Amino acid sequence: QSQELSQAHIDYHVALQALQEHGTRMVCTGKMHTDRICRFDYLCYCSEAEEFVFFHSNSSVMLPNLGSRRFQPALLDLSSVEDHNTQYFNFLELPAATLRFMPKPVFVPDVTLILNRFNPDNLMHVFHDDLLPAFYTMKQFLDSDEDARLVFMEGWEEGPHFELYRLLSNKQPLLKEQLRNFGKLMCFTKSYIGLSKMTTWYQYGFVQPQGPKANILVSGNEIRHFAKVLMEKMNITRAAGGEKDQGNAEDEKPKDEYIVVFSRSTTRLILNEAELIMALAQEFQMRVVTVSLEEQSFPSIVQVISGASMLVSMHGAQLITSLFLPPGAVVVELYPFAVNPDQYTPYRTLASLPGMDLHYIPWRNTEEENTVTHPDRPWEQGGIAHLEKEEQEQIMASKDVPRHLCCRNPEWLFRIYQDTLVDIPSFLEVLQEGVKAKPLLKKSKLSSTLHPGRVRDPQCQTSVQTSNEAKLTVSWQIPWNLKYLKVREVKYEVWIQEQGENTYMPYILPQQNYTFSDNIKPFTTYLVWVRCIFNKNLLGPFADVLMCRT
Ligand code: UDP
Repeated sequence: QSQELSQAHIDYHVALQALQEHGTRMVCTGKMHTDRICRFDYLCYCSEAEEFVFFHSNSSVMLPNLGSRRFQPALLDLSSVEDHNTQYFNFLELPAATLRFMPKPVFVPDVTLILNRFNPDNLMHVFHDDLLPAFYTMKQFLDSDEDARLVFMEGWEEGPHFELYRLLSNKQPLLKEQLRNFGKLMCFTKSYIGLSKMTTWYQYGFVQPQGPKANILVSGNEIRHFAKVLMEKMNITRAAGGEKDQGNAEDEKPKDEYIVVFSRSTTRLILNEAELIMALAQEFQMRVVTVSLEEQSFPSIVQVISGASMLVSMHGAQLITSLFLPPGAVVVELYPFAVNPDQYTPYRTLASLPGMDLHYIPWRNTEEENTVTHPDRPWEQGGIAHLEKEEQEQIMASKDVPRHLCCRNPEWLFRIYQDTLVDIPSFLEVLQEGVKAKPLLKKSKLSSTLHPGRVRDPQCQTSVQTSNEAKLTVSWQIPWNLKYLKVREVKYEVWIQEQGENTYMPYILPQQNYTFSDNIKPFTTYLVWVRCIFNKNLLGPFADVLMCRT
């Protein structure tokens, strides 16, 4: 049984004694529950009570020590979805002395990462909320992340994508339900609780309408690194041609370019898929392949997508697979009637992350006669039969879903679960326009994203000419890292501020010194900042401010 926790690896007696004497120890990162991840020694879980237990002794540690603020609202978020009240983590407290009256604890020897999956039935949620955050949380905290044990506490069954979760570590993940099998009291020798939110780019609309997160901290590089590792674990080698930086000649054309249509077979259908495929093949003179989650294994889908030049799909969770597209590929997302592409952008945001190097094109059905609605389906698939007649009529009459919060807005569900007959001329037009607008594929060289260091040895010299004229000469040396880089354009920015004033004069200069005389007054103190700029928009830090007295 793969779930078995080998008690042989730890000395049971030593572990029990450590727990009794030292109790539980916790140290966390993060000032708020929303950015907190905690490390525990000897945190226990009581399966009967379904509670984690912190055992206090004279030498237990609890940092942060929040007192009852620990419940306002929680110690931390167990999922990567921010501040969701069904995803909070806390523990109960007991004196270590009470262990004597409890069932004998079973110790978990593995280093454990404990978390909630947010929605393991939905592929977008699987990647965005669970796999990427878990992958990078393990990178951050777990030394040998390959051997970490994942524990999913949300209480769901394995779900349709459990194979993907298995790829994160060599050990079989545990579900909440399975913890009972280990006895009434289990104690994690060393565990981390919570998920990093650093890699998430989308908020689902719980407190404001859905959209990109306000402060995105991830780039395409991290997403692509994750994709590469996952592909290796799935034993996928990228289809020939798709890869561009394998040492081949820079402009070598892939041998066999093709387009992938990702089809959905149960809801939100493309009604004329065959016609769409023919049109794509003809327009681009390329092979068109279809994939669907209902018909293929996930690795075989990734294999196909990882070599594609273009991915075409209805809006929906399957579009998360665009993170496996090769750099330079095109993502075409189709939206049903009355659904505004600007308001539902998880895949557009992903494609647009710097370094993702994907070209994104949305298409929207604007012809009401080309949509097929399903008013009689259950509400979660967009049915509206359960609503008042008046509300039903209002929804049917509307041509644009107004902005709304997640997750049960009936008008939104009604519209997003429509099937669509794609109008081929309008579709091709959008595609042609979009592909034309595509910037000539810049080979994004690493060196073109590196930032300058501080300029070195900044100095100023001043002289007074007359009672109302003065000069201010500022000079500096190039940033240290510039010596080692080939940079297309190097410029310097100088800010001059008269002491006490709250405005400054900015200058952009190509050289390493300059004498300012306009607007420079005698017997005045100026504050001067200098920084370097590579290629117009890669800003470096300012050097320490100079105080220059004329
Ligand atoms: N799904 C699918 N085929 C379908 C409908 C859904 O493979 O015909 C998948 C979809 O990719 C997602 C899950 O089932 O992983 C849930 O789909 P749903 O429509 O609820 O969510 P959405 O795609 O809108 O995020």
